[in-house]
Amino acid sequence: MVFGFLPKKLLLPEIDKTKMETNKTFTMIKPDAVASQHIGAILNKITQAGFKIVALKYTSLSPELAGKFYAVHAERPFYKDLCSFMSSGPIVAAILEKDDAVASFRKLIGATNPAQAEEGTIRKEFAESIEKNAVHGSDSDENAQIEGNFFFSAFEKF
Ligand code: ATP
Ligand code: MG
Repeated sequence: MVFGFLPKKLLLPEIDKTKMETNKTFTMIKPDAVASQHIGAILNKITQAGFKIVALKYTSLSPELAGKFYAVHAERPFYKDLCSFMSSGPIVAAILEKDDAVASFRKLIGATNPAQAEEGTIRKEFAESIEKNAVHGSDSDENAQIEGNFFFSAFEKF
């Protein structure tokens, strides 16, 4: 292992998956939905579905930060366009709380491609295309924690 020579305390702490919270997820209202004035309607759908807002921020991503956030897709053909879209205007970032938050929120937002999203989902109602699809939702408890920490300090979570 490359960092085998480093003392253990100098390495980043590993996330203990046995202690992972299952009641939190992370979302972004993407630049398309912010530009179309859908922040209020989307937050309303989220709270009506029983999610509590634990942290909330109106901000924007530089191309570099968008690249970091979506680094998992770096090899995909849509990565460059995705990074320029995600840095094209303001976004709203939020940490949400509910039982089984990740799966429950993925159900609420619907399929990545709005053409395949179920009736009543956020993407069905507000997404323009497979890229400009209105909202992000974390895909695992581990990523929810990583993504929440990407945007919020401990003092910004309630
Ligand atoms: P997100 O991670 O934003 O919640 P997702 O998990 O439904 O979306 P991913 O496969 O993680 O979908 O893709 C990340 C984002 O990349 C999508 O939400 C979309 O904005 C964009 N994207 C995905 N597939 C395509 C594609 N085929 N063409 C263009 N953009 C795409
Ligand atoms: Mg994803």
